[in-house]
Amino acid sequence: NRRIVLAARPHGMPTAQDFRLEQAPIPAPAEGEVLLRTLYLSLDPYMRNLMDEAGTEYAPGLALGQPMMGGTVSRVIDSRHPGFGPGELVLASAGWQDYAVAAGDTLTALGDLPQPSLALGGLGMTGFTAYVGLLDIGQPQPGETVAVAAATGAVGAVVGQIARLKGARVVGIAGGADKCRYAVEELGFDACLDHRAPNLAGRLAAACPDGIDVYFENVGGAVLDAVLPRLNHHARVPVCGLIAHYNDDAAPAAPDRRPQLMASVLQKRIRMQGFVILDHYAERFDAFRADMQAWLDAGRITLREDRVEGLEHAPAAFIGLLEGRNFGKLVVRVAPD
Ligand code: NDP
Repeated sequence: NRRIVLAARPHGMPTAQDFRLEQAPIPAPAEGEVLLRTLYLSLDPYMRNLMDEAGTEYAPGLALGQPMMGGTVSRVIDSRHPGFGPGELVLASAGWQDYAVAAGDTLTALGDLPQPSLALGGLGMTGFTAYVGLLDIGQPQPGETVAVAAATGAVGAVVGQIARLKGARVVGIAGGADKCRYAVEELGFDACLDHRAPNLAGRLAAACPDGIDVYFENVGGAVLDAVLPRLNHHARVPVCGLIAHYNDDAAPAAPDRRPQLMASVLQKRIRMQGFVILDHYAERFDAFRADMQAWLDAGRITLREDRVEGLEHAPAAFIGLLEGRNFGKLVVRVAPD
């Protein structure tokens, strides 16, 4: 049973030395538990926060030596829970390891989903995040302009495509020409701008002649700086993530731009609302699953997966996610389906 543990707390961008691959005995399930084999492991930006001692408000930091956490599609190997039998596929939080035991009541049966890894992406947490953040908080109206950063990523690609389905004009922001071309040609965005090329603010102004009505915030940093002056009166800003800051070791140096930010919020009557997707499953997940399945069946949404083979490559792939090297929802195939 291989597992990858947190070996050291990163300073800034994590390095390979912050992770350690270990061997551990295969655990045995107690009453009410099941033994799981990991098939697919989801890699997500929030894992960077868990590597810090403080963690986040909704998930505590990992202790050193603890296996890295993560959502998985797993196969039941042995069950001491009446609801699950050997061979079944489940959605679990088995973490970065080959085998894990889990309480049966923490698992979701996946049935015979044709592409099980989608339960970690477009049909799961990241697609759901896009749906709730955009529709419930962003509330795009036909003809409005929606801007989204990390536009070809797991969340951003779904945000942009749903916004198009709702009749909005969509401007993506992504890293590099390939991602931008893909956003326009394959995802149907109206425009997509490379945030690594010069003068993002000027190009964004040109691409959004009517301003921005919804900015789906995945990034913060320089992208937010470029977007802020373009926000329209009564713009909505679902605050989903701030990946540009997850590796920050200290507060940024001066100048302090809080006054400008708050003045924009006030004068333009902007509604900026943070959300944590864990809060929304009970009320909204069923509606999301029905809508998303219908859009997929009708070919109206395209999901791109960036699949890495082998648990041992999870650390490098995760570092790549923080550097923008992933192209689509990042998953590790740990064992064959
Ligand atoms: P992605 O698949 O979008 O991968 C991360 C992407 O972020 C990278 O590929 C890169 O894309 C972009 N990125 C990284 N660093 C920077 C930077 N400094 N400036 C601009 N872009 C950067 O990840 P997800 O779709 O899984 O997550 C997107 C965001 O949503 C994250 O902030 C995440 O924390 C958040 N999130 C929040 C949830 C919630 O409940 N609130 C739930 C799920 C996700 P590119 O090459 O295009 O720059």
